[in-house]
Amino acid sequence: MLIERALNIALVGNPNTGKTTIFNGLTGLRQKIANYPGITVERKSGAAKIGHYKHLIIDLPGTYSLNSKKLDERVTYETLTGEFEHEETPDLVLIIVDSSNLDRNLYLVTQVMDLGIPTMIILNMQDVAVGKGIYINPDEMEEKLGVPVLSISAKNKRGIDEIKRAIENQQFSIPSPLKWQPIEPLKKAIELVIDKWIRPYTDLPEKAYIIEALKLISNTVSPVSIEFEGIEHNEIRRSVVSKAHSIIEQSGGNPVAIEVMNRYDFINECTSKSVARSSTDKKTLTDRIDSITTHKILGPISFVLILLLMFQSIFTWATPFMDMIDLLFINTGNWLAANLPPGLLTDLLVEGVIAGLGGVIIFLPQIIVLFFFISILEGSGYMARAAFVMDGFMSRIGLHGRSVVPLISGFACAIPGIMATRNIENWRDRIITIMVLPFMACSARLPVYALLIAAFIPPTTVIGFLDLQGLTFFGLYFFGIIMAVLSALVMNKFLIKGKQSPFLMELPDYKMPKWSAVFHNVFDRGRIFVTEAGRIIIAISIILWFLASFPKTDIPESQPLSDNANIASSFSPQINPDAYQLKHSFAGKFGSFIEPAIEPLGFDWKIGIGLITSFAAREVMVGTLNTIYSIEGEHGEVATLKQKLINDVDTDTGKPVYSIATALSLMVFFALAMQCMSTIAIVRRETNSWKWPLIMLGYMTALAYICSFITYQTVRLL
Ligand code: GDP
Repeated sequence: MLIERALNIALVGNPNTGKTTIFNGLTGLRQKIANYPGITVERKSGAAKIGHYKHLIIDLPGTYSLNSKKLDERVTYETLTGEFEHEETPDLVLIIVDSSNLDRNLYLVTQVMDLGIPTMIILNMQDVAVGKGIYINPDEMEEKLGVPVLSISAKNKRGIDEIKRAIENQQFSIPSPLKWQPIEPLKKAIELVIDKWIRPYTDLPEKAYIIEALKLISNTVSPVSIEFEGIEHNEIRRSVVSKAHSIIEQSGGNPVAIEVMNRYDFINECTSKSVARSSTDKKTLTDRIDSITTHKILGPISFVLILLLMFQSIFTWATPFMDMIDLLFINTGNWLAANLPPGLLTDLLVEGVIAGLGGVIIFLPQIIVLFFFISILEGSGYMARAAFVMDGFMSRIGLHGRSVVPLISGFACAIPGIMATRNIENWRDRIITIMVLPFMACSARLPVYALLIAAFIPPTTVIGFLDLQGLTFFGLYFFGIIMAVLSALVMNKFLIKGKQSPFLMELPDYKMPKWSAVFHNVFDRGRIFVTEAGRIIIAISIILWFLASFPKTDIPESQPLSDNANIASSFSPQINPDAYQLKHSFAGKFGSFIEPAIEPLGFDWKIGIGLITSFAAREVMVGTLNTIYSIEGEHGEVATLKQKLINDVDTDTGKPVYSIATALSLMVFFALAMQCMSTIAIVRRETNSWKWPLIMLGYMTALAYICSFITYQTVRLL
C-alpha cells in the first residue's frame, strides 16, 4: 500500500505525552494556530517536509478517551471520524503513547484503532520509562496490536528523525476492527446496534460506528446529543439498546462496565507479553504526596487549607487592581463628562457605556487570579485529588467531586465559578452545578450586607468575641450554602434527568504545571469573559441607564407640595435633582408600580428602584440608595447613608420605613435572587441557550420572594 501524495497526518494522545514536542519537531516553525470554527478550542497545524512531500500535520487536543464530553476533547473524536465541519479526515493517525504510563495510554489506543484509520503507534518517553525500570519490546507489542509500533524519545532529535523515516517508509496500517477482543455477547450487541439503529437511522460516518454503538450500550451518550437525533426514532433506539443489553446480561455481563473491562483485559495481556519491569519498590514522590492529599482525614484538611490560601490570595491580589480599575473608570467618566459638551450623547457614553464597561472589567482581576490557581491545581495533578477527596459528600447531594472547586469559587464571584464548570464532563452534573452556584454568597453581596447589618443589627455580644452582627453575616453565607445544597437535591431527584456519572478518574502523577498552558488558560478565560459576556452586559447597562434617565424631568420652580408630598417629605429640606429625576424616571415609576407587589416583603418604592437597578450588579443597590437619599443634612454636613436609612420615616404613618424585619427580609432577598446580568450572560454563553439562564432567573427570584415574605412576616410578628 504505497500512497504517492502529501498526507493529512493527525497526532492523537493523552495529555502530556509529548504531542506538542513531536508536532514542533516535525513542523519546525512552519505552524499555524487558529481556532476551530465556532468554538474557542485551539487548532494547530503545520507542514512537514518529508521525502518528496509536504505533509500536513494536525495536532489534536489531548484526551484520555473518545467518549469524553468535554468540548475540546470532542473535537479530537469528531475530527478523526470526519464529523467536524470543514475538517478533512486524516489519512494517517499517529497515536502518541507515554511509555512510562502504558496501561492508561493504551486504553485510548484501543479506541482509536476502532476507527479503522491507517495508524502508527509511537511509544514516546522511552527514557522516562527506562528510568522507572520499564522495558518495552516494540516488536511484541506490534504483534499483539497488529499495527506498526515505534519506540522513541521525542526530546532527542534522533527520535523525530525516526518518526520522519517511518512516515516516509509508510510504516502504518489499517487496524483490524475490535482488535481488543470483546467477549462474544458484546460483539453481538455491537453488531445489533449498528445494523438495527446506527446504519438505518443516523447519518454518522462509518468510521464512528463501533464507538457510537459502544457509547449507546455503555450509556455514555449525553442527553444533548440525543435531543438532536429527533424524537420520532427515540423508541426504536431505546428498544434496540435494550435488546443489546439483554444479550450481554444473559451472559452474566454488566452492559455499562463490560467494554472497559474487556479493553483492560486486552491491555493487560498485551503488556504482560511485551513489557518487562525491573523491580523497583521505591515509593515515588507522587506516592508520598498522595499519602497526605488522599488521606481520609489529612486529605480534606489539606484541601481546605489550599482553598483558604487561594481565596485569601484572590482578595489580597485582586482587590488593589479592582480598586484601580474602579478609579480609572470613574476618572475617565468624570473627565469625559467635564470635557464633552453636555447632552444626551455624553450622558449615554458616561453613565451607560463607561459605567457598564467598568462594571465588567472590574471582575477581571478576580477571574485572572482564580484561573491562575485553578490552572496550577489542574496542571500539577492536584485537582483530581481534590475531586477524589470531596466526591463522597458531593455525590450524596447529587453532584460530582469536580463540582467542588467551581462552587467554592462562587464565593468570590459566580462568573469564574460557572466558567470553571467546564471541567465537569457529565452534562447533568455540570448543569446542576451551574444552576445552584449563584447561591454561594459572592463578593458583590458584601457591600449590601455590610450596609444593612451596620444599620439595623445591634452589635450585641452573643458568646465570646461573637456578636449578633458577625453572626448575621455568617448566617447569610451559611444560608446560601444550605439553599445551594437543597436546590441541588431537588433538581437531582425530580427535575434534571440523566445518570450521575460514577467517579472514574485516574490520579495522574504530580508534575510541574506547564506555564504556557497556565498562561493560555488564564488568557482565554479572561478574553471570553470580556468579549462575550461584555457585549450583553453593556447592552443591558445602556437599557438600565435609559430607564433611569428618562423621561427627563426638572424640579419645578415652585414646588407643588400636593403632587409631591411623599418625595418632598422624604427629601426635604432640599431636593436633589438626581434623586428627583430618578423618582420620575421609568425605573422610578416602575419602582412605584411594583410597590404593591413588594410591600408584603417590607419594601417600599425606593427599595423597588434599587432592586431593579441592582440587576446590573448587586452592589449597585448601595449606589442607587445613595442617589435616592442624597440630600444634605440640615447643617450642611453630609449624613452617612446608614444614618439616612435609619432616619427615613413614612410620611403617611409616621413610622420608620426600615425595621429589623425589613433589613432581614432585604438581605434574604439579596442572598437568593438572581440579580446579576453578568451571571445570566455567562450562563447563556456556557450552556449555549437562553433556556437555562431564564430558568435560573425565574426559580431564584421566586425562591427569593417566598423566603423574604416568610422572613418579613415572621420577624414582624415576633
Ligand atoms: P503534550 O501535552 O502531549 O503536547 O506534551 P508536550 O509535548 O508538551 O510534553 C510534555 C512534557 O514532556 C514537556 O515538558 C516535554 O518537554 C516532555 N517530553 C516530551 N517528550 C519527551 C521524551 O521523550 N522524554 C522526556 N524525558 N520528556 C519528554
